Amino acid sequence: MAKDQKVIIVGAGLVGSLWAILMARRGYQVSVYERRGDMRSAGFIGGRSINLAMSDRGWKALEKAGVSEKIKAVAIPMYGRMMHSEQGQLTFQPYGKEGQAIYSVSRGGLNLELLRIGSQFDNLRYYFNHPCKSVDFRQKTIKFEDKIAQKKVEASADLIFGADGAFSAVRSSLQRLPRFNYAQNYLDYGYKELHIPPGPEGQHLIEKKALHIWPRGRFMLIALPNPDGSFTCTLFLPYEGHEAFEKLQTDQDIEAFFVKHFPDALALMPTLLENFHQNPTGNLVTIRCNPWHFEDQVLLIGDASHAIVPFYGQGMNSGFEDCTILDEMMDDYQEDWSKIVPDFSQQRVKDANAIADLALRNFVEMRDLVADPKFLLRKKIASHLQDLHPGKFLPVYSMVTFSHLPYNKALSASQAQDQLFEHILALDGIENNWKNNPEVERIFLQWLKEQ
Ligand SMILES: Cc1cc2nc3c(=O)[nH]c(=O)nc-3n(C[C@H](O)[C@H](O)[C@H](O)COP(=O)(O)OP(=O)(O)OC[C@H]3O[C@@H](n4cnc5c(N)ncnc54)[C@H](O)[C@@H]3O)c2cc1C
Repeated sequence: MAKDQKVIIVGAGLVGSLWAILMARRGYQVSVYERRGDMRSAGFIGGRSINLAMSDRGWKALEKAGVSEKIKAVAIPMYGRMMHSEQGQLTFQPYGKEGQAIYSVSRGGLNLELLRIGSQFDNLRYYFNHPCKSVDFRQKTIKFEDKIAQKKVEASADLIFGADGAFSAVRSSLQRLPRFNYAQNYLDYGYKELHIPPGPEGQHLIEKKALHIWPRGRFMLIALPNPDGSFTCTLFLPYEGHEAFEKLQTDQDIEAFFVKHFPDALALMPTLLENFHQNPTGNLVTIRCNPWHFEDQVLLIGDASHAIVPFYGQGMNSGFEDCTILDEMMDDYQEDWSKIVPDFSQQRVKDANAIADLALRNFVEMRDLVADPKFLLRKKIASHLQDLHPGKFLPVYSMVTFSHLPYNKALSASQAQDQLFEHILALDGIENNWKNNPEVERIFLQWLKEQ
């Protein structure tokens, strides 16, 4: 494709603004249309999590765009989970090997930085306050509304990317085409963001370099650190039932619930009631669709094609990985989009479905299993096997978070590793005799042979 050819990206969220930089670097004429106002002047209006966990897949894409150093300088490493029991006991569980961490990153800060870098390209133009209304695939045109001028506008391009999030307008137009598969599933849970302010000296009041979890079986509270000494907490709770959002209506209901389940967190939350009433209750949705493209001209990326629940911290990371893979395909296929678009759509769907499944499973792990001694034992044995057999055994969490292995490989490995640990954990007295246990070694080597 000659570099004077036009590209439209719908959505200047995390994935759209990163993808715009990578396309502009290659010399394409890039126009980005965003529904919201310009965050560079109006500030970031989020509506969703204030901070996010960034892991290796996300960092790789940011490196490609030349922004990783700047973002890492203000990101906070979280080396493991800090579990808070109902009695206030703390247990730390490392995420990976020494030095491996996921990073707490500001959603608004990251989005703004990507926009600032994008605006340095002469061949990249942003159109804010321009919601996409529909795509006409035959005419290769997109209809937008210019909210400032209050008029309809139409634009055309050789390539169109739908990066307009979970409720994508580009995808809505694709849905009207024959043989487009689409599924949307909501969890019966909602989430609410809460706040732990910094201490009097601006310090973090609980361990800074950890992701905090208060696992309570059917529900949980988590907290991620911010650079100003505060924590952003998120309560994940069923909408209906005995302990549920519907039961937390009055100040007394909310306080009694926190006194019962999260007393140590409550002591750090002077604005709990205010936050609880003011902040909306968010939904948790998984969206799967297929194909992600129309001919060689329209392609969905990020949440527009694969929105997942946040329990593996992989939504943004997987969207950024879309950008990495597409960028690599541009080299492999000499920028022949008639090959890249259908190939990407075809090979990536299975990975997106795999991380959607893994994210749903991780919800059970986070809210329930992390407090289970058997689960903690499994983690310890897994880490031990990884040390004993480097390169031969990688725990699934590390595959997803600290590697670039396709997600569908991690999903298959998770099923295989479940079988391995079923055998190991069934050994008599395993709790007290798992290190250098010849029976563990025998089961492991047998399992390895079968893989
Ligand atoms: C509570 C919560 C916590 C999360 N935590 C993590 C985490 O720790 N780690 C992680 O990796 N992921 C996390 N995620 C997922 C992550 O937020 C998403 O995967 C990520 O934001 C997807 O980026 P995106 O650019 O594809 O979509 P979005 O961020 O939704 O951006 C889409 C953009 O398109 C714009 N837009 C929408 N409609 C139109 C239209 N019609 N026309 C023009 N523009 C439009 C929107 O205004 C927006 O700017 C979390 C999600 C939630 C809900």
